Amino acid sequence: MDFNLSEEQLAFQGAARAFAAGEMTPHAAEWDEKKIFPKDVIAKAGEMGFCGLYSPEDVGGMGLSRVDSSIILEELAAGCTSTAAYISIHNMATWMTATWGTDAVKETWCGDLVTGQKLASYCLTEPGAGSDAGSLRTSAKKDGDSYIINGSKMFISGAGETDLLVVMVRTGTVDSGPKGISAFAIPSDTDGINYGKNEDKMGWNSQPTRAISFENARVSADHLLGVEGEGFKIAMKGLDGGRINIASCSIGAAQACINHTQAYMKERSQFGKPLAAFQALQFKLADMVTELVAARTMVHLAAFKLDENDADKTTYCAMAKRFATDIGFDVCNNAIQLHGGYGYIREYPIERFQRDARVHQILEGTNEIMRLVTARRILEDGATDAIR
Ligand SMILES: Cc1cc2nc3c(=O)[nH]c(=O)nc-3n(C[C@H](O)[C@H](O)[C@H](O)COP(=O)(O)OP(=O)(O)OC[C@H]3O[C@@H](n4cnc5c(N)ncnc54)[C@H](O)[C@@H]3O)c2cc1C
Repeated sequence: MDFNLSEEQLAFQGAARAFAAGEMTPHAAEWDEKKIFPKDVIAKAGEMGFCGLYSPEDVGGMGLSRVDSSIILEELAAGCTSTAAYISIHNMATWMTATWGTDAVKETWCGDLVTGQKLASYCLTEPGAGSDAGSLRTSAKKDGDSYIINGSKMFISGAGETDLLVVMVRTGTVDSGPKGISAFAIPSDTDGINYGKNEDKMGWNSQPTRAISFENARVSADHLLGVEGEGFKIAMKGLDGGRINIASCSIGAAQACINHTQAYMKERSQFGKPLAAFQALQFKLADMVTELVAARTMVHLAAFKLDENDADKTTYCAMAKRFATDIGFDVCNNAIQLHGGYGYIREYPIERFQRDARVHQILEGTNEIMRLVTARRILEDGATDAIR
Protein backbone atom coordinates (compact mmCIF):
# COMPACT_ATOMS: atom_id res chain seq x y z
CA MET A 1 0.00 0.00 0.00
CA ASP A 2 1.42 3.37 -1.07
CA PHE A 3 0.73 6.17 1.37
CA ASN A 4 1.37 8.84 -1.28
CA LEU A 5 -1.49 9.66 -3.62
CA SER A 6 -0.71 8.76 -7.23
CA GLU A 7 -0.88 11.36 -10.02
CA GLU A 8 -4.24 9.93 -10.97
CA GLN A 9 -5.56 10.11 -7.40
CA LEU A 10 -4.37 13.70 -7.11
CA ALA A 11 -6.28 14.47 -10.32
CA PHE A 12 -9.48 12.87 -8.93
CA GLN A 13 -9.01 14.76 -5.68
CA GLY A 14 -8.51 18.04 -7.54
CA ALA A 15 -11.58 17.50 -9.72
CA ALA A 16 -13.78 16.62 -6.73
CA ARG A 17 -12.44 19.54 -4.71
CA ALA A 18 -13.16 21.97 -7.56
CA PHE A 19 -16.64 20.49 -8.03
CA ALA A 20 -17.39 20.81 -4.31
CA ALA A 21 -16.10 24.39 -4.17
CA GLY A 22 -18.04 25.44 -7.26
CA GLU A 23 -21.29 23.50 -7.00
CA MET A 24 -21.78 22.57 -3.34
CA THR A 25 -20.11 24.91 -0.84
CA PRO A 26 -21.93 28.06 -2.03
CA HIS A 27 -25.37 26.41 -1.63
CA ALA A 28 -24.93 24.03 1.29
CA ALA A 29 -26.33 26.41 3.94
CA GLU A 30 -29.45 27.10 1.88
CA TRP A 31 -30.00 23.40 1.13
CA ASP A 32 -29.76 22.74 4.86
CA GLU A 33 -32.06 25.56 5.91
CA LYS A 34 -34.72 25.00 3.24
CA LYS A 35 -34.36 21.21 3.07
CA ILE A 36 -33.58 21.28 -0.63
CA PHE A 37 -32.54 17.95 -2.20
CA PRO A 38 -30.26 19.23 -5.00
CA LYS A 39 -31.02 16.68 -7.70
CA ASP A 40 -29.67 19.02 -10.37
CA VAL A 41 -26.28 19.19 -8.66
CA ILE A 42 -26.29 15.43 -8.05
CA ALA A 43 -26.88 14.99 -11.81
CA LYS A 44 -23.89 17.29 -12.46
CA ALA A 45 -21.87 15.11 -10.06
CA GLY A 46 -23.08 12.20 -12.21
CA GLU A 47 -21.65 13.87 -15.31
CA MET A 48 -18.29 13.88 -13.51
CA GLY A 49 -18.64 10.13 -12.83
CA PHE A 50 -19.28 10.60 -9.09
CA CYS A 51 -22.55 8.63 -9.09
CA GLY A 52 -20.94 5.42 -10.34
CA LEU A 53 -17.54 5.69 -8.69
CA TYR A 54 -16.85 2.00 -8.14
CA SER A 55 -19.57 0.55 -10.32
CA PRO A 56 -18.02 -1.48 -13.14
CA GLU A 57 -17.13 0.14 -16.43
CA ASP A 58 -19.29 -2.32 -18.41
CA VAL A 59 -22.41 -0.57 -17.06
CA GLY A 60 -20.89 2.88 -17.56
CA GLY A 61 -19.39 3.27 -14.07
CA MET A 62 -15.91 4.63 -13.38
CA GLY A 63 -14.69 1.26 -12.08
CA LEU A 64 -12.51 3.02 -9.52
CA SER A 65 -10.93 1.41 -6.47
CA ARG A 66 -12.49 1.99 -3.05
CA VAL A 67 -9.43 4.05 -2.07
CA ASP A 68 -9.98 6.36 -5.07
CA SER A 69 -13.70 6.55 -4.27
CA SER A 70 -12.93 7.47 -0.67
CA ILE A 71 -10.66 10.31 -1.79
CA ILE A 72 -13.44 11.71 -3.99
CA LEU A 73 -16.23 11.36 -1.42
CA GLU A 74 -14.09 13.08 1.21
CA GLU A 75 -13.74 16.12 -1.05
CA LEU A 76 -17.46 16.23 -1.87
CA ALA A 77 -18.29 16.03 1.85
CA ALA A 78 -16.10 19.05 2.55
CA GLY A 79 -18.49 20.94 0.24
CA CYS A 80 -21.81 19.60 1.57
CA THR A 81 -21.59 16.61 3.89
CA SER A 82 -25.28 15.79 3.69
CA THR A 83 -25.41 15.77 -0.12
CA ALA A 84 -22.13 13.84 -0.39
CA ALA A 85 -23.49 11.28 2.07
CA TYR A 86 -26.57 10.76 -0.12
CA ILE A 87 -24.29 10.41 -3.18
CA SER A 88 -22.36 7.79 -1.20
CA ILE A 89 -25.53 5.76 -0.53
CA HIS A 90 -26.53 6.10 -4.18
CA ASN A 91 -23.12 4.70 -5.15
CA MET A 92 -23.65 1.72 -2.84
CA ALA A 93 -27.12 0.91 -4.19
CA THR A 94 -25.96 1.43 -7.78
CA TRP A 95 -23.00 -0.91 -7.28
CA MET A 96 -25.30 -3.57 -5.78
CA THR A 97 -27.63 -3.28 -8.79
CA ALA A 98 -24.70 -3.44 -11.23
CA THR A 99 -23.13 -6.41 -9.43
CA TRP A 100 -26.16 -8.61 -8.77
CA GLY A 101 -28.83 -7.32 -11.18
CA THR A 102 -30.09 -9.45 -14.05
CA ASP A 103 -29.14 -8.30 -17.54
CA ALA A 104 -32.63 -6.81 -17.93
CA VAL A 105 -32.33 -4.77 -14.72
CA LYS A 106 -28.80 -3.62 -15.53
CA GLU A 107 -29.86 -2.58 -19.03
CA THR A 108 -32.90 -0.67 -17.81
CA TRP A 109 -31.34 1.06 -14.80
CA CYS A 110 -27.57 1.19 -14.59
CA GLY A 111 -26.90 3.66 -17.41
CA ASP A 112 -29.10 6.29 -15.77
CA LEU A 113 -27.94 5.47 -12.23
CA VAL A 114 -24.23 5.90 -12.91
CA THR A 115 -24.87 9.28 -14.53
CA GLY A 116 -27.13 10.48 -11.72
CA GLN A 117 -30.11 10.89 -14.07
CA LYS A 118 -31.93 8.37 -11.90
CA LEU A 119 -31.36 7.94 -8.18
CA ALA A 120 -31.41 4.95 -5.85
CA SER A 121 -32.18 4.18 -2.19
CA TYR A 122 -30.94 1.35 0.02
CA CYS A 123 -33.78 -0.14 2.07
CA LEU A 124 -32.81 -2.45 4.92
CA THR A 125 -34.01 -0.89 8.20
CA GLU A 126 -37.55 -1.52 9.43
CA PRO A 127 -39.48 -0.08 12.38
CA GLY A 128 -38.81 -3.27 14.37
CA ALA A 129 -35.47 -4.22 12.82
CA GLY A 130 -32.64 -1.67 13.06
CA SER A 131 -29.38 -3.03 14.47
CA ASP A 132 -30.92 -6.49 14.31
CA ALA A 133 -31.46 -6.19 10.55
CA GLY A 134 -31.43 -9.97 10.11
CA SER A 135 -34.83 -10.11 11.82
CA LEU A 136 -36.56 -7.99 9.16
CA ARG A 137 -40.16 -8.94 8.33
CA THR A 138 -41.09 -7.27 5.05
CA SER A 139 -42.11 -10.26 2.95
CA ALA A 140 -41.93 -11.24 -0.71
CA LYS A 141 -44.18 -14.11 -1.83
CA LYS A 142 -43.70 -15.69 -5.23
CA ASP A 143 -46.76 -15.38 -7.48
CA GLY A 144 -46.19 -16.74 -11.00
CA ASP A 145 -43.34 -14.77 -12.55
CA SER A 146 -43.45 -12.03 -9.95
CA TYR A 147 -43.23 -11.46 -6.19
CA ILE A 148 -45.75 -9.65 -4.00
CA ILE A 149 -44.14 -7.42 -1.38
CA ASN A 150 -45.76 -6.45 1.95
CA GLY A 151 -44.29 -4.63 4.94
CA SER A 152 -42.51 -1.41 5.78
CA LYS A 153 -39.10 0.19 5.83
CA MET A 154 -37.90 3.01 8.10
CA PHE A 155 -35.46 5.92 7.77
CA ILE A 156 -34.77 5.45 4.06
CA SER A 157 -32.40 8.07 2.62
CA GLY A 158 -33.65 9.74 -0.52
CA ALA A 159 -37.01 7.93 -0.34
CA GLY A 160 -39.82 9.71 -2.14
CA GLU A 161 -37.33 11.38 -4.50
CA THR A 162 -35.46 8.34 -5.79
CA ASP A 163 -36.32 6.12 -8.75
CA LEU A 164 -35.04 2.69 -7.73
CA LEU A 165 -35.30 1.00 -4.34
CA VAL A 166 -32.82 -1.73 -3.44
CA VAL A 167 -34.95 -3.58 -0.88
CA MET A 168 -34.09 -6.45 1.44
CA VAL A 169 -37.14 -8.66 2.10
CA ARG A 170 -37.99 -12.02 3.60
CA THR A 171 -38.60 -14.79 1.07
CA GLY A 172 -38.13 -17.52 3.68
CA THR A 173 -40.24 -18.34 6.71
CA VAL A 174 -40.71 -15.80 9.54
CA ASP A 175 -38.03 -17.51 11.64
CA SER A 176 -35.57 -18.14 8.77
CA GLY A 177 -33.18 -15.38 9.99
CA PRO A 178 -30.64 -13.82 7.63
CA LYS A 179 -30.71 -16.91 5.35
CA GLY A 180 -34.36 -16.22 4.48
CA ILE A 181 -33.64 -12.75 3.12
CA SER A 182 -33.49 -11.78 -0.55
CA ALA A 183 -32.71 -8.48 -2.26
CA PHE A 184 -34.74 -6.83 -5.01
CA ALA A 185 -34.36 -3.76 -7.21
CA ILE A 186 -37.85 -2.25 -7.21
CA PRO A 187 -38.99 0.75 -9.27
CA SER A 188 -40.05 3.37 -6.74
CA ASP A 189 -43.34 4.15 -8.50
CA THR A 190 -44.61 0.56 -8.33
CA ASP A 191 -48.31 0.35 -7.37
CA GLY A 192 -48.69 -0.41 -3.66
CA ILE A 193 -45.62 1.58 -2.55
CA ASN A 194 -46.35 4.58 -0.32
CA TYR A 195 -44.04 7.09 1.32
CA GLY A 196 -44.17 8.69 4.76
CA LYS A 197 -43.42 12.33 5.57
CA ASN A 198 -39.95 13.75 5.18
CA GLU A 199 -38.57 13.34 8.72
CA ASP A 200 -37.45 16.46 10.63
CA LYS A 201 -33.81 15.82 11.42
CA MET A 202 -30.88 17.32 13.31
CA GLY A 203 -28.80 17.31 10.12
CA TRP A 204 -28.68 15.68 6.68
CA ASN A 205 -31.32 18.21 5.68
CA SER A 206 -30.35 18.34 2.00
CA GLN A 207 -31.67 14.80 1.57
CA PRO A 208 -35.08 13.44 2.49
CA THR A 209 -35.53 10.54 4.93
CA ARG A 210 -38.84 8.69 4.79
CA ALA A 211 -40.58 5.51 5.84
CA ILE A 212 -41.85 3.32 2.99
CA SER A 213 -44.80 0.96 3.07
CA PHE A 214 -45.43 -1.90 0.66
CA GLU A 215 -48.99 -3.12 0.24
CA ASN A 216 -49.22 -5.94 -2.27
CA ALA A 217 -46.55 -4.28 -4.42
CA ARG A 218 -45.87 -6.56 -7.38
CA VAL A 219 -42.33 -6.83 -8.74
CA SER A 220 -41.23 -8.95 -11.65
CA ALA A 221 -39.07 -11.95 -10.62
CA ASP A 222 -36.24 -10.75 -12.85
CA HIS A 223 -35.79 -7.85 -10.40
CA LEU A 224 -34.30 -10.24 -7.83
CA LEU A 225 -30.66 -9.33 -7.10
CA GLY A 226 -28.53 -12.47 -7.03
CA VAL A 227 -30.42 -15.56 -5.90
CA GLU A 228 -33.12 -16.13 -3.30
CA GLY A 229 -31.70 -16.31 0.22
CA GLU A 230 -28.53 -14.36 -0.62
CA GLY A 231 -30.04 -10.95 0.11
CA PHE A 232 -28.54 -10.44 3.56
CA LYS A 233 -25.04 -11.27 2.31
CA ILE A 234 -25.56 -8.86 -0.60
CA ALA A 235 -26.78 -6.16 1.81
CA MET A 236 -23.69 -6.64 4.01
CA LYS A 237 -21.33 -6.61 1.01
CA GLY A 238 -22.92 -3.32 -0.01
CA LEU A 239 -22.36 -2.01 3.51
CA ASP A 240 -18.63 -2.88 3.58
CA GLY A 241 -18.20 -0.20 0.93
CA GLY A 242 -20.97 1.96 2.40
CA ARG A 243 -19.06 2.14 5.67
CA ILE A 244 -15.90 3.30 3.89
CA ASN A 245 -18.01 5.88 2.06
CA ILE A 246 -19.69 7.28 5.15
CA ALA A 247 -16.40 7.32 7.05
CA SER A 248 -14.90 9.31 4.15
CA CYS A 249 -17.76 11.80 4.44
CA SER A 250 -16.94 12.27 8.15
CA ILE A 251 -13.31 12.92 7.28
CA GLY A 252 -14.34 15.49 4.66
CA ALA A 253 -16.55 17.31 7.17
CA ALA A 254 -13.78 17.29 9.77
CA GLN A 255 -11.14 18.47 7.29
CA ALA A 256 -13.37 21.38 6.27
CA CYS A 257 -13.76 22.28 9.95
CA ILE A 258 -9.99 22.17 10.46
CA ASN A 259 -9.43 24.40 7.42
CA HIS A 260 -11.91 26.96 8.76
CA THR A 261 -10.45 26.75 12.28
CA GLN A 262 -6.86 27.19 11.16
CA ALA A 263 -7.81 30.41 9.35
CA TYR A 264 -10.09 31.64 12.14
CA MET A 265 -7.44 31.19 14.83
CA LYS A 266 -5.20 33.60 12.94
CA GLU A 267 -7.93 36.16 12.30
CA ARG A 268 -9.57 36.30 15.72
CA SER A 269 -7.79 38.14 18.52
CA GLN A 270 -8.49 38.13 22.25
CA PHE A 271 -6.34 39.54 25.05
CA GLY A 272 -4.37 41.41 22.38
CA LYS A 273 -3.23 38.24 20.59
CA PRO A 274 -4.58 36.03 17.83
CA LEU A 275 -6.14 32.79 19.11
CA ALA A 276 -3.36 30.99 17.24
CA ALA A 277 -0.86 32.37 19.78
CA PHE A 278 -2.44 30.54 22.73
CA GLN A 279 -0.62 27.27 23.27
CA ALA A 280 -3.65 25.51 24.74
CA LEU A 281 -5.50 26.16 21.48
CA GLN A 282 -2.50 25.19 19.36
CA PHE A 283 -2.41 21.86 21.19
CA LYS A 284 -6.12 21.29 20.60
CA LEU A 285 -5.69 21.97 16.87
CA ALA A 286 -2.62 19.71 16.78
CA ASP A 287 -4.63 16.87 18.34
CA MET A 288 -7.51 17.41 15.91
CA VAL A 289 -5.17 17.16 12.91
CA THR A 290 -3.27 14.18 14.35
CA GLU A 291 -6.44 12.22 14.98
CA LEU A 292 -7.90 13.09 11.60
CA VAL A 293 -4.76 11.93 9.79
CA ALA A 294 -4.93 8.65 11.75
CA ALA A 295 -8.61 8.24 10.82
CA ARG A 296 -8.01 8.94 7.13
CA THR A 297 -5.11 6.48 7.07
CA MET A 298 -7.29 3.83 8.64
CA VAL A 299 -10.11 4.43 6.16
CA HIS A 300 -7.66 4.12 3.26
CA LEU A 301 -6.29 0.91 4.81
CA ALA A 302 -9.79 -0.56 5.09
CA ALA A 303 -10.61 0.55 1.53
CA PHE A 304 -7.40 -1.13 0.37
CA LYS A 305 -8.40 -4.34 2.19
CA LEU A 306 -11.74 -4.20 0.41
CA ASP A 307 -10.03 -3.64 -2.95
CA GLU A 308 -7.78 -6.63 -2.24
CA ASN A 309 -10.78 -8.76 -1.16
CA ASP A 310 -8.88 -9.47 2.06
CA ALA A 311 -10.43 -12.17 4.28
CA ASP A 312 -10.79 -9.58 7.06
CA LYS A 313 -12.12 -6.73 4.92
CA THR A 314 -15.43 -6.57 6.81
CA THR A 315 -13.66 -6.20 10.15
CA TYR A 316 -11.37 -3.48 8.81
CA CYS A 317 -14.34 -1.62 7.29
CA ALA A 318 -16.19 -1.81 10.62
CA MET A 319 -13.17 -0.60 12.60
CA ALA A 320 -12.53 2.25 10.16
CA LYS A 321 -16.18 3.31 10.16
CA ARG A 322 -16.32 3.36 13.95
CA PHE A 323 -13.04 5.20 14.34
CA ALA A 324 -13.38 7.76 11.55
CA THR A 325 -16.99 8.70 12.30
CA ASP A 326 -16.20 9.15 16.01
CA ILE A 327 -13.05 11.17 15.26
CA GLY A 328 -14.87 13.14 12.54
CA PHE A 329 -17.61 14.14 14.94
CA ASP A 330 -15.14 15.05 17.71
CA VAL A 331 -13.07 17.19 15.35
CA CYS A 332 -16.17 19.10 14.19
CA ASN A 333 -17.23 19.55 17.82
CA ASN A 334 -13.78 20.85 18.82
CA ALA A 335 -13.88 23.23 15.86
CA ILE A 336 -17.06 24.73 17.31
CA GLN A 337 -15.24 25.22 20.61
CA LEU A 338 -12.31 26.95 18.92
CA HIS A 339 -14.72 29.31 17.15
CA GLY A 340 -16.37 30.26 20.44
CA GLY A 341 -19.91 31.62 20.04
CA TYR A 342 -19.33 32.09 16.31
CA GLY A 343 -19.02 28.33 15.95
CA TYR A 344 -22.52 27.87 17.30
CA ILE A 345 -24.33 30.26 14.97
CA ARG A 346 -25.44 29.42 11.47
CA GLU A 347 -23.54 32.28 9.83
CA TYR A 348 -20.52 29.99 10.07
CA PRO A 349 -20.63 26.49 8.53
CA ILE A 350 -19.07 24.65 11.48
CA GLU A 351 -22.27 23.74 13.33
CA ARG A 352 -23.76 22.35 10.09
CA PHE A 353 -20.77 20.05 9.56
CA GLN A 354 -21.17 18.84 13.13
CA ARG A 355 -24.93 18.26 12.77
CA ASP A 356 -24.41 16.42 9.48
CA ALA A 357 -21.57 14.24 10.82
CA ARG A 358 -23.52 13.13 13.92
CA VAL A 359 -25.69 10.58 12.15
CA HIS A 360 -22.64 8.84 10.68
CA GLN A 361 -22.11 7.32 14.14
CA ILE A 362 -25.63 5.84 13.95
CA LEU A 363 -26.34 4.61 10.43
CA GLU A 364 -24.92 1.91 8.16
CA GLY A 365 -24.59 -0.03 11.41
CA THR A 366 -24.27 1.93 14.67
CA ASN A 367 -20.82 2.30 16.14
CA GLU A 368 -21.84 -0.18 18.85
CA ILE A 369 -22.58 -2.72 16.10
CA MET A 370 -19.17 -1.90 14.52
CA ARG A 371 -17.57 -2.82 17.85
CA LEU A 372 -19.64 -5.99 17.94
CA VAL A 373 -18.45 -6.99 14.43
CA THR A 374 -14.84 -6.25 15.43
CA ALA A 375 -14.99 -8.01 18.81
CA ARG A 376 -16.64 -11.11 17.34
CA ARG A 377 -13.69 -11.54 14.97
CA ILE A 378 -10.92 -10.55 17.36
CA LEU A 379 -12.05 -13.13 19.92
CA GLU A 380 -11.53 -15.95 17.40
CA ASP A 381 -8.34 -17.98 17.78
CA GLY A 382 -5.49 -16.56 15.71
CA ALA A 383 -7.31 -13.33 14.94
CA THR A 384 -4.78 -11.12 16.67
CA ASP A 385 -2.24 -12.18 14.04
CA ALA A 386 -4.64 -11.44 11.20
CA ILE A 387 -5.77 -8.06 12.42
CA ARG A 388 -2.98 -5.71 13.39
C1 LIG B 1 -30.95 10.06 8.91
C2 LIG B 1 -30.95 8.57 8.80
C3 LIG B 1 -30.83 7.97 7.55
C4 LIG B 1 -30.87 6.59 7.41
N1 LIG B 1 -30.78 6.03 6.18
C5 LIG B 1 -30.99 4.70 6.03
C6 LIG B 1 -31.08 4.11 4.72
O1 LIG B 1 -30.93 4.81 3.70
N2 LIG B 1 -31.35 2.79 4.63
C7 LIG B 1 -31.52 1.99 5.73
O2 LIG B 1 -31.75 0.80 5.56
N3 LIG B 1 -31.42 2.51 6.98
C8 LIG B 1 -31.17 3.84 7.16
N4 LIG B 1 -31.10 4.39 8.42
C9 LIG B 1 -31.32 3.53 9.57
C10 LIG B 1 -30.08 3.26 10.40
O3 LIG B 1 -29.22 2.39 9.71
C11 LIG B 1 -30.57 2.72 11.76
O4 LIG B 1 -31.13 3.82 12.45
C12 LIG B 1 -29.46 2.07 12.56
O5 LIG B 1 -29.02 0.88 11.95
C13 LIG B 1 -29.88 1.78 14.00
O6 LIG B 1 -31.11 1.14 14.07
P1 LIG B 1 -32.24 1.71 15.06
O7 LIG B 1 -32.40 3.15 14.76
O8 LIG B 1 -33.43 0.84 14.94
O9 LIG B 1 -31.60 1.61 16.52
P2 LIG B 1 -31.60 0.31 17.47
O10 LIG B 1 -31.15 -0.87 16.70
O11 LIG B 1 -32.90 0.24 18.18
O12 LIG B 1 -30.47 0.71 18.50
C14 LIG B 1 -30.65 1.57 19.63
C15 LIG B 1 -29.35 1.63 20.40
O13 LIG B 1 -29.02 0.33 20.91
C16 LIG B 1 -27.74 -0.06 20.46
N5 LIG B 1 -27.74 -1.52 20.25
C17 LIG B 1 -28.64 -2.28 19.58
N6 LIG B 1 -28.30 -3.55 19.59
C18 LIG B 1 -27.14 -3.64 20.30
C19 LIG B 1 -26.26 -4.71 20.67
N7 LIG B 1 -26.50 -5.97 20.31
N8 LIG B 1 -25.16 -4.41 21.39
C20 LIG B 1 -24.90 -3.12 21.75
N9 LIG B 1 -25.67 -2.07 21.42
C21 LIG B 1 -26.77 -2.32 20.70
C22 LIG B 1 -27.53 0.70 19.18
O14 LIG B 1 -26.16 0.83 18.85
C23 LIG B 1 -28.16 2.04 19.53
O15 LIG B 1 -27.26 2.80 20.28
C24 LIG B 1 -31.01 5.78 8.58
C25 LIG B 1 -31.11 6.37 9.83
C26 LIG B 1 -31.10 7.75 9.96
C27 LIG B 1 -31.23 8.37 11.32
